[in-house]
Amino acid sequence: MDPALGPPEEMAEKRDELTPMMRQYHDLCERYDDALVLFQVGDFYETFCGAAERTARLLEVTLTSREDSTGEYPMTGIPIDNAESYIEDLLEAGYRVAVADQVEEPGESSGVVERAVTRVITPGTLTEDELLSSDDNNFVAAVARGAGGDGPTDRDADLALALLDVSTGDFLATSSASNEAIADEISRFDPAEAVVGPDVRTESGDAGSNANANADADADADADLFPKDCMVTPFDEAVFDRDRAAETVADYFGNPDSLLASDPEIRACGALLEYAEYARGSERDAEAKADDGGEDDRLEYLTHLTRYDPREYLLLDAVALRSLELFEPRAVRGRDEATLVGVLDETASALGGRKLRDWLRRPLLEPDRIEARLDAVEELKSGVRTREELQELLRDVYDLERLIGRISRERANARDLRSLRDTLAVVPDIRAELEDADCDRLRRLHAALDPLADVRGLIEDAIVADPPIEITEGGIIAEGYDGDLDDLRRTARDGKQWIDDLEERERERTGIDSLKVGYNSVHGYYIEVTNPNLDSVPDDYQRRQTLKNSERFVTPELKEREDEIVGAEERADELEYELFRDVRRTVADEVERVQDLADALATLDALVSLATVAAQYDYCRPETLEHERTEDGGLEIDIEGGRHPVVERTQESFVPNDAHLTEDRRLAVITGPNMSGKSTYMRQVAQIVLLAQVGSFVPAKSARLTPVDRIFTRVGASDDIAGGRSTFMVEMDELATILREADERSLVLLDEVGRGTSTADGMAIAQAITEHLHDAVGATTLFATHHHPLTEVADVLEDAFTLHFEVDQEDGEVVFRHEVAPGAATGSYGVEVATAAGVPESVVERSRELVAEAETEPVDPAKEEGEGEEEEEEEEEETRELDPEEVEGPELEPEPEPEPESEHAAETETTRATGAATTTTTATADGGDDPTDVAAELRALDLGHMTPVEALTELDRLKRLLEE
Ligand code: ADP
Ligand code: MG
Repeated sequence: MDPALGPPEEMAEKRDELTPMMRQYHDLCERYDDALVLFQVGDFYETFCGAAERTARLLEVTLTSREDSTGEYPMTGIPIDNAESYIEDLLEAGYRVAVADQVEEPGESSGVVERAVTRVITPGTLTEDELLSSDDNNFVAAVARGAGGDGPTDRDADLALALLDVSTGDFLATSSASNEAIADEISRFDPAEAVVGPDVRTESGDAGSNANANADADADADADLFPKDCMVTPFDEAVFDRDRAAETVADYFGNPDSLLASDPEIRACGALLEYAEYARGSERDAEAKADDGGEDDRLEYLTHLTRYDPREYLLLDAVALRSLELFEPRAVRGRDEATLVGVLDETASALGGRKLRDWLRRPLLEPDRIEARLDAVEELKSGVRTREELQELLRDVYDLERLIGRISRERANARDLRSLRDTLAVVPDIRAELEDADCDRLRRLHAALDPLADVRGLIEDAIVADPPIEITEGGIIAEGYDGDLDDLRRTARDGKQWIDDLEERERERTGIDSLKVGYNSVHGYYIEVTNPNLDSVPDDYQRRQTLKNSERFVTPELKEREDEIVGAEERADELEYELFRDVRRTVADEVERVQDLADALATLDALVSLATVAAQYDYCRPETLEHERTEDGGLEIDIEGGRHPVVERTQESFVPNDAHLTEDRRLAVITGPNMSGKSTYMRQVAQIVLLAQVGSFVPAKSARLTPVDRIFTRVGASDDIAGGRSTFMVEMDELATILREADERSLVLLDEVGRGTSTADGMAIAQAITEHLHDAVGATTLFATHHHPLTEVADVLEDAFTLHFEVDQEDGEVVFRHEVAPGAATGSYGVEVATAAGVPESVVERSRELVAEAETEPVDPAKEEGEGEEEEEEEEEETRELDPEEVEGPELEPEPEPEPESEHAAETETTRATGAATTTTTATADGGDDPTDVAAELRALDLGHMTPVEALTELDRLKRLLEE
């Protein structure tokens, strides 16, 4: 148990003797025992005992102590004024933070000031703008597993996932029979936090330690579901109970059985709702609580629950998301904008930014929906003036989703309401721009842009134009909105006017010219008379204060007026607060309309952004092909002059390339030297396909595409050494997934597969995979490889073909043309490049000899290829310096090379193991007859149905066979 959580032991022992304040602290710690309690004492949040020691270390604040009659307790304090940054650090360290605020004014009651947890801040349930990224969602997830078997439907055995963005109200649910499918959805939405049901096995999360760090293999079976930076914790089992969850869901959205597909989904959603309520804090400010009877913790702005099936969208697993650089640059030194979202995001509002990210996360499958977006993008692209006008107007759109969330949670101040009003004020102009829209999508947006005139009118009438941040100190409600308030204000004003005039009147009455009327916060209003004039003071003056040179007086009338003013002002402040909360509640009642408007604005912004990019960077509208066009639902990818959307932005000049993949040309083996453009080419094809399904124009001269269901990638040598797995294991793992799950509607990218092992093994695996993808899977595949013999395999396979990249030499310089061409690379480029790079003539000569030898007689391919590979790598270093165009190469190179150490280790080990037997393997290279059983067995391997471990075991066995 983390000593920072739960009631401190040293207090628990003597709870009944504690001072009232410390008892309060103890009890709150007990009640919120899975959060670190920040306890308001005046202007500070304090922590005590174990929590104090922990926060002192984490936040680098001084550890002091508090002493009272019952003992001495370690203590830290952080200033409330900038608590957010401290809280952020606590969250980062893996804590939930329960904020216990003073909920009554000191002195309001006789005993100790009442405190209540007004919010529990957790990584996944943030609503504080300071802690949130504005253009991305922040999700918390709940996962529940079905009991299986005895439920009313088969689906009850599924794993269900619910996702909620507490700040915006986005709420989604899905489920699947496969753990992997749910893991893929989780990586798509990348929740900051997850709570899991009792039947989901993860290491029980100690706050402060990373939840799934070193769980043993069995216990973390489900921990694999979550990315490392996601805080995973079990939550109160009771909330996952079917009946209780169904009730919770019903309370928000109506009949759960009609909304959701299975019991696990209901349980995940119900639990997540309760978790969100928990995070809201048990009590809001005391008055708000009193208003709704202290009962209702409902989050009113959660108005939509969307149940979806992962199969409705193009599936992108974590590997694909990463290698296609959707949201994060691959290169460590990569710049943030070197991502797909970076090049596409020209949105003007936070709403639009989030919408665009959601579209990228979930590209569409249905041609109709894709075309509808494309129609809108096309119209906005060609309507230059409208587009620019819209973008300008959209800049004035506030984050309505979070605003209405705050309004609904009663966290909004008067400025927030005015911000809502300001946004509503631009809606009519935005609407007007769409008045003549042609396409269906834009016309529907036009109709959906409800300017909420009633809400805007209410705010304009009720709230002053530039209100203060504080909502309890008046100055918020506009003149004329409320008669009583106006009366009170008039009273106060008249009173003040009377006082303002008093000086003049009293001077006349008393004849004392130096008489002054003043105000001080202790004594209130007074009349001040200097000592020489004291004789002229009238009888009704009452002495209040004696100063050195003067006396201060009041009169009964002045006192009366003063009380009137103060009373009126106080009552006015209170009334204003009440009126403000009424207005806020009235606005909150319109939450759904505001959310619908927000969605329309977000969609429009995202479309305008796509149109802007399309216009600015010369994208073309892709043609969406129906699957029916092709006989067995295969894909057609037909790109002319395609460019890599990210690389072209960082490259001075980018060489466009075509891609033609059809049913009978669906597997391309791509060869060419390092740095020639293979990886870029493959990724650009996939990104163009993906962009088209987002509904975006694409960087190409023309593109005709059938939507793909899923993009698989195995790109570069990613290494998971930290996760305790070798490169090779990772590679095999990813391959196994591809072979198991790909089908004829998948697009598969394989980049340098087989690098993690000896060349002989790598080649064998590469060939077996190629054949399997071709014969059994039927996926559209791009395979970049340094295994040249693979091009011969492609020649044999019916629906496979070869592509290659050439390197030129001009005046002794290596020139990368980056141009894809049919056929296989010659294979001799390595030596040529070496020459150009200035490798000594004798070495080059010897290389030529060896190449010639290799072409005539079988040699140890492990050695040959192994060396070849190293040579290439070195060459790459050289050529970067040689080619002026490549000056930025190292920085932009998106593909991290494998860790030298690990690669080296793998190499030496396997070389030793294959040793004598390798010659036999060469024969497989030509794809002809299999001279050995081993090759035949390799061919027969059903990789699609093997686990990585099985694959390794099998490989090991085959190796042994060869060695015998
Ligand atoms: P490979 O995979 O063959 O080693 P890459 O695809 O990684 O080569 O490309 C290496 C570098 O060459 C890229 O980082 C990019 O800077 C540049 N490059 C690739 N393709 C093109 C292209 N079509 N036009 C211009 N530069 C390109
Ligand atoms: Mg590459």
